[in-house]
Amino acid sequence: MTNLNTSYLPSPIRSSYLDTMLPEVESLLIVQDRDQKILIQRRELERVPRDKASAEDKLSNDKSAVSCAKEAYQENQVAIKNTELDIATRRDTIAKLKTQQFETKKNEEYTSLGKDVERYAEMIDELETQELELMEQADELKEKHTQAIAALEVTQKEVDQDIAHLEVKANECQGRLDELLSERSELIAKVDDNLITLYERLLKTKGNDPVVPLKGSQCGGCHMKVTPSTVASVLAEKGITQCENCGRILYQS
Ligand SMILES: [Zn+2]
Repeated sequence: MTNLNTSYLPSPIRSSYLDTMLPEVESLLIVQDRDQKILIQRRELERVPRDKASAEDKLSNDKSAVSCAKEAYQENQVAIKNTELDIATRRDTIAKLKTQQFETKKNEEYTSLGKDVERYAEMIDELETQELELMEQADELKEKHTQAIAALEVTQKEVDQDIAHLEVKANECQGRLDELLSERSELIAKVDDNLITLYERLLKTKGNDPVVPLKGSQCGGCHMKVTPSTVASVLAEKGITQCENCGRILYQS
């Protein structure tokens, strides 16, 4: 099968296909154009929930940074409290030892109790050093927590903006989709029922291009060469011609 050569056609047919298009095909092409636009809007709308979810995902790192910083600060505060309790316990012990020391009549016991007091005092020194270190850490940890909260707030604002944009976009898409759907129903009302049935069946089985141009002698949908009689029928534009291979409706481009 060679490429389309129209010279073999009678001249009235040649001039007619160049100047005009079968009105049914023209109407279907407009419906098809709306269907393709409808599909684009539907896909855009389907993407919105996923885009929202991935926008919210941006928060998860910042949220976990805040909770880690909070936890570290809380652990530090517990450690400070425990150290303070340890110090208080040892101070009580020292007080008791000193009372015993005061009450004892025995020199040996007095000396031994004195050593115990010294030992507990050393422990208190160590604990106080520890407490100071913990308190220094507390300042740093508190600062880290504050910074993490600030970072989360910045991200939250960005995410809120992203989500607001997505909602605007979704509304626009929905509006456009509603317009297209109502345009479509007006358009198909003017087309023959059988033709619309055929078109919609092709739309389901062949995707969004049930009406395709004939390119030379090749179907613009399945890219197979069609028979000369199919070519002639398309060029004659006397009625709807379908590709014998895929069934798509052909028109002369
Ligand atoms: Zn085809």
